[in-house]
Amino acid sequence: MLNRKELKEIAMLQAAGSYFVSLYLNVSPNTKGDYVIHLKNMLKNVLEETDKKILKKVKGDIEKLEAFVTSNKREFKKGLAIITSSEKSFWKEYHLAVPVKNAIIADKTPYIEPLLDILDNYKQYAVLLVDKESARLFLMHLGEIEEYGEVHTHDVPGKHKRGGWFSLSGHRFERHIDYHVGLHIKDVVKKLESFLAAERIEMIITGGSDDAVAKVREMLPRAVSKKIVGAFHAEMFANVNDIFEKVKPVISGVESMAEKAVVSDLLTAVGKGQNAVIGIEDVLNALQEGKILKLVLLKNFKDEGYECRNCRNLSKQKVSVCPYCKGGMEEVNYLIDLAAQRAVEQGSQIEVIAENKEMLEAGGIGAFLRF
Ligand SMILES: [Zn+2]
Repeated sequence: MLNRKELKEIAMLQAAGSYFVSLYLNVSPNTKGDYVIHLKNMLKNVLEETDKKILKKVKGDIEKLEAFVTSNKREFKKGLAIITSSEKSFWKEYHLAVPVKNAIIADKTPYIEPLLDILDNYKQYAVLLVDKESARLFLMHLGEIEEYGEVHTHDVPGKHKRGGWFSLSGHRFERHIDYHVGLHIKDVVKKLESFLAAERIEMIITGGSDDAVAKVREMLPRAVSKKIVGAFHAEMFANVNDIFEKVKPVISGVESMAEKAVVSDLLTAVGKGQNAVIGIEDVLNALQEGKILKLVLLKNFKDEGYECRNCRNLSKQKVSVCPYCKGGMEEVNYLIDLAAQRAVEQGSQIEVIAENKEMLEAGGIGAFLRF
C-alpha cells in the first residue's frame, strides 16, 4: 500500500548509471480498449524519443510493462502506477482507487511525485489499538489498511503475579504496575507521534482498552490529541481484516460530515455565482476551458455522452461535429470516468462523495473553479 516511508525508500534507490521506468496509467475497467491504446502510444513515443544508449537499458522494462498491462486478467482499480528497473531487479506496482495522469518516464531516478500528490490529496488515517502492555499501529488510506508497526513492553508485570514471586505489598504493587504502564504508554505516544510525522497524518482513530486510550490522550500534546476523530472496539489480537471492518464505519462517519460540508460549500458558491459550477454540462464546459480546481462527484455516478475523436472534447448533448475542432463525435457510455481522468490530467483535485441527497438532486457532479 502507498505510504511515505516506502516512497522515500524508492526515491533513494537511484544508483550510478541505472535507469528506472515509471508508468502512470488510468485503467478504469470500463475503459480497457482506451487505456491499452494510450499505453501503446506512450510506449511508442518513448521508443522514438529516448536516446539509443538509454533505450538499451530500459527496453526490457518497456516490454515488461506492455506485457503486464495488456495481458492482465484481473480487474484493475482506477489508477495504476509501476516503477521498474530491470538493471536493479526492481519492480513495484500500486493499484490505486483514484485516477492518475497518464505518464511514462525513463530516468535515472524513479518518478514518484504523482504518488506523493495522492498522499497529499486523499486523507490518511492512523489507527491505534492499545492496551496496558502492547499497541498496534495501522495506516488507512483510500479504502485500504496496512499494519504499520507495533509496540510491546515486555516488562509490565501481570496482575496474576500478585503475591507471587513479586512479593510487593498490594499498594506498592499497584504503583509498580502504574509505573510500567506509564513507561509503555509513553513509548506508544512516541511511536504514534513519529508515525504521524513520517506519514503526515492528520486524523487518528483509537481502539483497545479504555484506560490505555484515555492515558494516551492525556499524554499526547493538545495539537495531536485534537487529531483523534473517532473510536472503535476490537481485541488486541484481532486480525487486520477485522480491524478494517470495525474502523470503516468510523471513517465513513467522519468523511460523510466532511463531504456534507464540501457539498454545502459548493452549492452555496454556485448560488452566489462564485467560481463554482454544478451539473454535467457546466462541468464539461469548465473542463474544456481548463478551469477546474476541484471536481466534486458522487461515487458510482454514471452518465453517457459524446467524445470528440480528435481533441477529446466531451459533450453531454448529441452533436455531430466537435464545436472546438470540427472533429467527429463518438458516443461514450462512461462520460463521468472520462471527465474525472481529464480533470486529473489538468492537475485538478478530485473529491468523491459517498452519498449525499442534495448532491444527487443538484446533478451528481460539480466543481470549484480556479477563476
Ligand atoms: Zn474536437
